[in-house]
Amino acid sequence: MTGSRRGFLRLVGGTLAGAAVVGAAATSKAKDLTVEVPPEEPLGPPTVQIDFPAGELTAGTDVPRLVGEGGRQHPNAKRHSLEVIWNMDMEKKLVALTFDDGPVPGVSEMLYDILDEAKVKATFFMVGKRVREFEGLLNKRMDRHEVGNHTYSHESLFNKTDSDALQDMNDAHKAIAEVIGREPTLFRPPYSHVSGGTLVAAAAMGYDIVMWNNNIGYTGFEGDEARLVREVVQTTTPGSIVLCHDGGPEYLISIRNVPNIIAELKKQGYEFVTIPELRSA
Ligand SMILES: [Zn+2]
Repeated sequence: MTGSRRGFLRLVGGTLAGAAVVGAAATSKAKDLTVEVPPEEPLGPPTVQIDFPAGELTAGTDVPRLVGEGGRQHPNAKRHSLEVIWNMDMEKKLVALTFDDGPVPGVSEMLYDILDEAKVKATFFMVGKRVREFEGLLNKRMDRHEVGNHTYSHESLFNKTDSDALQDMNDAHKAIAEVIGREPTLFRPPYSHVSGGTLVAAAAMGYDIVMWNNNIGYTGFEGDEARLVREVVQTTTPGSIVLCHDGGPEYLISIRNVPNIIAELKKQGYEFVTIPELRSA
């Protein structure tokens, strides 16, 4: 895959070094994986592939039980590798907008209208319990977009056991599949907390993990929203994955500037694609 770089994340005697994780090092109880953050490289390389040694993935975990009993056997379940993507390294001027934490009434519909109006595709990392609660907001509105899994509860997976992390992910998977009508294949961890358990659960579900390398701000821009636009536009590069939120009214300042951000980036020749489109470009 273009931009893929292997070797940055190394599985050394059960220790996974170099993952970009916000917060303290975390361990997966079952697997004894330690994920460490190099402070000088908080966002990591564009893409890394993590290979679990054969047999390692399910050793001591409840993964086979949960995947088997959940009533749904993912075709990729129990695979032994996954990718963690921060951005793609490319020359073509493609950019992927991603929106987390929705759907939320009063915010998400406004965003969907903006994207429709601009004829721009995006990727949504949705919270499963909100997908269930606000199902009505989603009717046919995701047809052009990609929808990924952002857990059911939006709790950090740091302190969950492997099986609890998997359960949370699986509940959201079912909610998205039932309401949207498509099975998600991408996962973004709440608070960007990536523990060993997160990796194990995501691999078991057949997911790759999508992080980001640029974001649209929402605090400190009152009275200077032009700076909010400028900051994200100036730091966007070909292959960027841009984080934004539609998870509550506090993000309305970001959302109402999305049209300006899109217009500026289009002026610079950027085209907006979903994460799968970005990866296959
Ligand atoms: Zn979130």
